[in-house]
Amino acid sequence: MSSDPDCIFCKIVAGEIPCFKLYEDDQTIAFMDINPFSDGHCLAVPKAHFKDVFSISPDAMAATARTAARVATAVDATVQPDGLNLIQANGPAAGQTVFHFHFHIFPRADGDRASLDWGHSPGNMDTIGALAEQIKENLAD
Ligand code: AMP
Ligand code: ZN
Repeated sequence: MSSDPDCIFCKIVAGEIPCFKLYEDDQTIAFMDINPFSDGHCLAVPKAHFKDVFSISPDAMAATARTAARVATAVDATVQPDGLNLIQANGPAAGQTVFHFHFHIFPRADGDRASLDWGHSPGNMDTIGALAEQIKENLAD
Protein backbone atom coordinates (compact mmCIF):
# COMPACT_ATOMS: atom_id res chain seq x y z
CA MET A 1 0.00 0.00 0.00
CA SER A 2 1.48 3.38 -1.00
CA SER A 3 2.35 5.79 1.81
CA ASP A 4 4.03 9.20 2.05
CA PRO A 5 6.17 9.73 5.17
CA ASP A 6 5.47 13.48 5.08
CA CYS A 7 1.67 13.11 4.80
CA ILE A 8 -0.41 13.81 7.92
CA PHE A 9 -3.19 11.40 6.91
CA CYS A 10 -0.66 8.63 6.20
CA LYS A 11 0.65 9.23 9.73
CA ILE A 12 -2.90 8.86 11.08
CA VAL A 13 -3.36 5.64 9.05
CA ALA A 14 -0.07 4.32 10.50
CA GLY A 15 -1.11 5.24 14.05
CA GLU A 16 1.82 7.64 14.37
CA ILE A 17 -0.43 10.54 15.33
CA PRO A 18 -3.77 10.30 17.12
CA CYS A 19 -7.23 10.83 15.74
CA PHE A 20 -10.84 10.51 16.87
CA LYS A 21 -11.38 7.35 14.83
CA LEU A 22 -14.93 6.51 13.80
CA TYR A 23 -14.45 3.53 11.51
CA GLU A 24 -11.74 1.47 9.85
CA ASP A 25 -11.64 -1.38 7.35
CA ASP A 26 -8.97 -2.89 5.10
CA GLN A 27 -8.94 0.02 2.66
CA THR A 28 -10.34 3.04 4.49
CA ILE A 29 -10.48 5.00 7.72
CA ALA A 30 -12.89 7.70 8.95
CA PHE A 31 -12.11 10.17 11.72
CA MET A 32 -13.29 13.50 13.11
CA ASP A 33 -11.99 16.73 11.55
CA ILE A 34 -10.21 18.61 14.36
CA ASN A 35 -10.92 22.02 12.78
CA PRO A 36 -14.61 21.50 12.20
CA PHE A 37 -17.09 23.68 10.37
CA SER A 38 -19.96 22.15 12.35
CA ASP A 39 -20.71 19.44 14.92
CA GLY A 40 -20.08 16.03 13.36
CA HIS A 41 -17.73 17.25 10.60
CA CYS A 42 -15.50 14.30 9.80
CA LEU A 43 -13.42 12.77 7.00
CA ALA A 44 -13.40 9.50 5.04
CA VAL A 45 -9.96 8.60 3.71
CA PRO A 46 -8.36 5.74 1.76
CA LYS A 47 -5.56 4.07 3.72
CA ALA A 48 -3.29 4.15 0.66
CA HIS A 49 -1.83 7.51 -0.26
CA PHE A 50 -3.49 9.04 -3.33
CA LYS A 51 -3.13 12.78 -3.80
CA ASP A 52 -6.50 13.54 -5.32
CA VAL A 53 -9.47 12.37 -7.38
CA PHE A 54 -7.27 12.36 -10.47
CA SER A 55 -4.87 9.76 -9.10
CA ILE A 56 -6.99 7.59 -6.80
CA SER A 57 -7.61 4.06 -8.04
CA PRO A 58 -11.22 3.16 -8.87
CA ASP A 59 -11.17 0.49 -6.20
CA ALA A 60 -9.96 2.88 -3.49
CA MET A 61 -12.49 5.48 -4.65
CA ALA A 62 -15.32 2.97 -4.40
CA ALA A 63 -14.19 1.86 -0.96
CA THR A 64 -13.85 5.46 0.29
CA ALA A 65 -17.24 6.43 -1.13
CA ARG A 66 -18.83 3.42 0.62
CA THR A 67 -17.26 4.48 3.92
CA ALA A 68 -18.30 8.11 3.42
CA ALA A 69 -21.93 7.12 2.83
CA ARG A 70 -21.96 4.82 5.84
CA VAL A 71 -20.40 7.36 8.18
CA ALA A 72 -22.62 10.17 6.79
CA THR A 73 -25.66 8.11 7.75
CA ALA A 74 -24.32 7.79 11.31
CA VAL A 75 -23.51 11.52 11.50
CA ASP A 76 -27.02 12.32 10.25
CA ALA A 77 -28.53 10.11 12.96
CA THR A 78 -26.28 11.63 15.63
CA VAL A 79 -26.43 15.38 15.06
CA GLN A 80 -29.62 15.50 12.95
CA PRO A 81 -28.47 18.43 10.83
CA ASP A 82 -30.79 20.26 8.45
CA GLY A 83 -28.64 18.94 5.58
CA LEU A 84 -25.28 17.40 4.87
CA ASN A 85 -22.70 17.85 2.10
CA LEU A 86 -20.04 15.44 0.95
CA ILE A 87 -17.22 17.74 -0.14
CA GLN A 88 -13.99 16.72 -1.81
CA ALA A 89 -11.28 19.19 -2.88
CA ASN A 90 -8.59 18.77 -5.54
CA GLY A 91 -5.79 21.33 -5.64
CA PRO A 92 -5.14 24.53 -3.67
CA ALA A 93 -7.53 26.58 -5.79
CA ALA A 94 -10.30 24.17 -4.85
CA GLY A 95 -9.38 24.49 -1.16
CA GLN A 96 -7.31 21.32 -0.78
CA THR A 97 -4.88 21.69 2.11
CA VAL A 98 -4.08 18.02 2.81
CA PHE A 99 -2.84 16.27 -0.30
CA HIS A 100 -4.18 12.82 0.54
CA PHE A 101 -7.60 12.15 -1.00
CA HIS A 102 -10.54 12.61 1.40
CA PHE A 103 -14.25 13.23 1.54
CA HIS A 104 -15.52 15.79 4.03
CA ILE A 105 -18.75 14.68 5.70
CA PHE A 106 -20.09 18.15 6.32
CA PRO A 107 -23.29 18.75 8.33
CA ARG A 108 -25.26 21.86 7.41
CA ALA A 109 -27.80 24.09 9.18
CA ASP A 110 -30.49 26.19 7.54
CA GLY A 111 -29.02 29.62 6.87
CA ASP A 112 -25.46 28.72 7.89
CA ARG A 113 -24.16 30.32 4.69
CA ALA A 114 -21.21 27.91 4.69
CA SER A 115 -18.20 29.07 2.83
CA LEU A 116 -15.64 26.55 1.67
CA ASP A 117 -13.18 28.54 3.79
CA TRP A 118 -14.35 27.98 7.39
CA GLY A 119 -11.18 29.29 8.99
CA HIS A 120 -9.76 25.98 10.22
CA SER A 121 -9.73 27.14 13.86
CA PRO A 122 -9.38 24.38 16.44
CA GLY A 123 -12.57 22.87 17.82
CA ASN A 124 -13.37 21.84 21.39
CA MET A 125 -11.65 18.45 21.77
CA ASP A 126 -14.11 17.30 24.48
CA THR A 127 -17.04 18.04 22.18
CA ILE A 128 -15.32 16.38 19.22
CA GLY A 129 -14.48 13.29 21.26
CA ALA A 130 -18.01 13.02 22.66
CA LEU A 131 -19.52 13.34 19.19
CA ALA A 132 -17.13 10.65 17.91
CA GLU A 133 -18.49 8.24 20.54
CA GLN A 134 -22.10 9.05 19.60
CA ILE A 135 -21.47 8.66 15.86
CA LYS A 136 -19.78 5.29 16.41
CA GLU A 137 -22.93 4.12 18.25
CA ASN A 138 -24.95 4.97 15.16
CA LEU A 139 -22.75 3.18 12.62
CA ALA A 140 -24.87 0.51 10.95
CA ASP A 141 -23.37 -2.92 10.32
P1 AMP B 1 -8.94 20.06 2.75
O1 AMP B 1 -8.69 21.51 3.11
O2 AMP B 1 -10.17 19.82 1.91
O3 AMP B 1 -7.69 19.43 2.17
O4 AMP B 1 -9.26 19.37 4.12
C1 AMP B 1 -8.28 18.94 5.02
C2 AMP B 1 -8.96 18.82 6.35
O5 AMP B 1 -8.15 18.03 7.18
C3 AMP B 1 -9.19 20.16 7.06
O6 AMP B 1 -10.59 20.35 7.30
C4 AMP B 1 -8.41 20.00 8.36
O7 AMP B 1 -9.08 20.56 9.45
C5 AMP B 1 -8.31 18.49 8.50
N1 AMP B 1 -7.17 18.04 9.28
C6 AMP B 1 -5.88 18.41 9.12
N2 AMP B 1 -5.10 17.74 10.02
C7 AMP B 1 -5.93 16.94 10.73
C8 AMP B 1 -5.74 15.99 11.79
N3 AMP B 1 -4.53 15.76 12.30
N4 AMP B 1 -6.82 15.35 12.29
C9 AMP B 1 -8.05 15.59 11.78
N5 AMP B 1 -8.30 16.45 10.77
C10 AMP B 1 -7.26 17.12 10.25
ZN1 ZN C 1 -1.05 10.25 2.66
